Amino acid sequence: MLFIPLYHSLDAGTAYPYALPRAVFARHLFLLEQMHTCVDATTAEVCMDAPECTFDRTMVQVQFDDGYEDNMQLIDILENYRVPVTLFIATEYIGKKLDGRSMLDVSQLRELNSHPLVSFGSHAHSHRKLIDISAEELMYEFEKSKAVLEDVLGDEIVRVSYPKSASNVQVRECAARVYAYGYGSSKNDVAVGGYVDNMQIPRVAQEGKTPLWKFVAQNIEALWRIKKI
Ligand SMILES: [Zn+2]
Repeated sequence: MLFIPLYHSLDAGTAYPYALPRAVFARHLFLLEQMHTCVDATTAEVCMDAPECTFDRTMVQVQFDDGYEDNMQLIDILENYRVPVTLFIATEYIGKKLDGRSMLDVSQLRELNSHPLVSFGSHAHSHRKLIDISAEELMYEFEKSKAVLEDVLGDEIVRVSYPKSASNVQVRECAARVYAYGYGSSKNDVAVGGYVDNMQIPRVAQEGKTPLWKFVAQNIEALWRIKKI
């Protein structure tokens, strides 16, 4: 199985529902390390592509969306538990604010990218809901974001996560022209039979108010729910 818990922010002083206190995030990583094998995105994606892969090592890939500046506080926690993460960046907001919250700037992105436990993906360019826009606009969102991130980081960007959890057939077809992997975000993204589609890889968004027992239950549920296509 492949279980992908999705985080956003560690700035729990705000009313933002997707912000987790650092101590709670650290507890999550402790539990994930105990229950599963935490891998980087490339390891999970290579396994997804391999015909013999069954995810029987119960892989976990920890991901963050948007690119908030408070993601700089991740490093010591990741190092403590040796857990890799992938950060998906909404590129129009690099060094700016999104809904009033400060975002990572170019030098912070480069600093994070130099860390062996951190990888990157695109979260599209403008953070618009992609199901509402034309194919032409979709291609701009995906191509612009890839170009900006590759320019900032100097690495090839092969994956995207869809803003606001929203994708449909047109979104995924356009994304597949630019990226090899597309990450969704809710249970609704799981294809019939619980199998994983490369452009619709399911994730489970974590909220600040989610009790720890519910997080553990998600992990157990993931053991039987998600398999390779
Ligand atoms: Zn987002």
